Amino acid sequence: MLVSGSENGYLHGENSGDGGRTLPIATRGTLGAVTDDARDAPISRRDFERAVRALNLSDLSLRDAVLQLSAQVVTLTDELTRRLDKVEPQPAPAGTPPTETPGTLEEAVTELIPTTLAKIRAADARSTRVALDMGADKYEVTPADVPCAELIPLCGARCCTYTFALSTADLDEGVIRWDYGQPYLIRQRASDGFCVHNDPTTRGCTAHAHRPRVCRTYDCRDDKRVWTDYERRIPAPLGQHFDETKVTDFDLFERARLRSLTVHREAQAIATTFSDGAPRLPPQS
Ligand code: SF4
Ligand code: SF4
Repeated sequence: MLVSGSENGYLHGENSGDGGRTLPIATRGTLGAVTDDARDAPISRRDFERAVRALNLSDLSLRDAVLQLSAQVVTLTDELTRRLDKVEPQPAPAGTPPTETPGTLEEAVTELIPTTLAKIRAADARSTRVALDMGADKYEVTPADVPCAELIPLCGARCCTYTFALSTADLDEGVIRWDYGQPYLIRQRASDGFCVHNDPTTRGCTAHAHRPRVCRTYDCRDDKRVWTDYERRIPAPLGQHFDETKVTDFDLFERARLRSLTVHREAQAIATTFSDGAPRLPPQS
């Protein structure tokens, strides 16, 4: 059970409105007394999410190490096929004459590995393991000027049923909830499929001030999942979702690139904060 209150050495609990942040009383950067209570304090949501983020980061890093190993094996096998069997490796048709590659076997493999790795990473990106919004700072973007309040009776705020990824800043802030089974997609309610921050009665956003970047910038006017004809205010039939089979090779290469950036950004966020989200400052003398 989560405990809040200063009697356990902590200020602000899960429901304090500070995004689940739980702050130790001891001043940061000093060697103030640490009580047993503080050490044994119950795990907060922020502690738990930090642990999950660290595990996801480890999973992504390990997976990429496996992909790099795969790229070395595939590239070496392909080059041996060219040099020993004197044919171009699959998927070239059987008996295709080999492409001449200059230098030693090692030089050729080193030269070819980046291309093979990019293809392997793109193929792997078809499965979304961890998704993170890599866009601009949500507090700096210009919100879309869609008159949502006027249109919600027509659209039913169906954009709040779509899935999208949160940013590292959203995770650090700890207000907007994410789906622990599909990191870091917005969390949705089982009862109606809407985002957990959507009010079921008014269909308004209950976390408006903290809403993610995607919610701020999304413009539904040309989205055929929402409007058959926006100008004439004719909503599209319900139940139309993004078709994953229409993902192009370009999309996959872009996803793979973003996944590499995800690892970097998350590693930095975790390494530069304490478990309660406070920045990790240089020690004070
Ligand atoms: S579907 Fe469009 S009009 Fe409706 S709430 Fe979403 S952004 Fe606003
Ligand atoms: S955070 Fe708000 S605007 Fe964004 S999907 Fe959820 S309810 Fe909709």
